[in-house]
Amino acid sequence: MGAVNFARPAQLVILQAMLWWILSSLLLLAICGLLWLFWWPGWQRRRIMTRAFPAPWQQILHDNLPYYAGLPEDLRKRLQQQILWFLHEKTFVGCGGLQVSDEMRITIAAEACLLTLHQPGNHYARLRFIYLYPNAYRASNREVTAAGVVSEQTQHRLGESWHDGKVVLSWDDVSRGSSNFGDGDNVVLHEFAHQLDQASGDSNGAPLLRSAQSYQQWARVLAHEFEALQRDARHGHRSTMKYYGATNPAEFFAVATEHFYEQPEHMLERHPELFRQLQQYYGVDPRELHH
Ligand SMILES: [Zn+2]
Repeated sequence: MGAVNFARPAQLVILQAMLWWILSSLLLLAICGLLWLFWWPGWQRRRIMTRAFPAPWQQILHDNLPYYAGLPEDLRKRLQQQILWFLHEKTFVGCGGLQVSDEMRITIAAEACLLTLHQPGNHYARLRFIYLYPNAYRASNREVTAAGVVSEQTQHRLGESWHDGKVVLSWDDVSRGSSNFGDGDNVVLHEFAHQLDQASGDSNGAPLLRSAQSYQQWARVLAHEFEALQRDARHGHRSTMKYYGATNPAEFFAVATEHFYEQPEHMLERHPELFRQLQQYYGVDPRELHH
């Protein structure tokens, strides 16, 4: 009887070693991929947001935002952190010969971040570019009617917000809107309210809310107020809100946001339910900005 050979053939050993090597490499790659997906963005965000906020930038906030000096220290800090992240992620592009300055970038970032100051999370994540013109710019508006008739008109615009990661603004109007924080006119608040609305996928006047019940209340209150504004606009009745809000539900939300932040006392007095809905969504009582 011959002796049994327990030794494995050399080829099998090499094959097993290669298999282990491939499997461990794949595992390592998967771990790196998961880290990159879940840990890296948060780590990078924290790293950027904890950078020192330059003193000249603080001066711009003091000079251009009437409410900044009255903010409690913790909110000032939070606003600065959000501005740092906003400036890191978004690219400003000067149009019509405009040279984009720090004053322009900081002022726009601050007003955009004012809307998200009390809402945790990375807002405006899809936004990549902010195109800035020196003043109101001309844009053509193309419309196709149900009958297939195409009409094209040239309009003067102060700002636009798009689903595909861009906002367009006129600096003249940004500057006027930020220095006069009480007339209900603020193109940055308006366009960035559109961005929040568009984050839900549609431009329909309903940003991302916390629960199904919140959507029901939101739809009930905003539809009621929207119809009331449409009636006021149709009959030429005086309204605390701009008639432009009667254009459609998306414009209503953007106009209501301007009114809520800039004229909160008026809104609370004339439209208390709308005030409460916006207060719940934005997580702030903007009367505190008007002391
Ligand atoms: Zn609008």
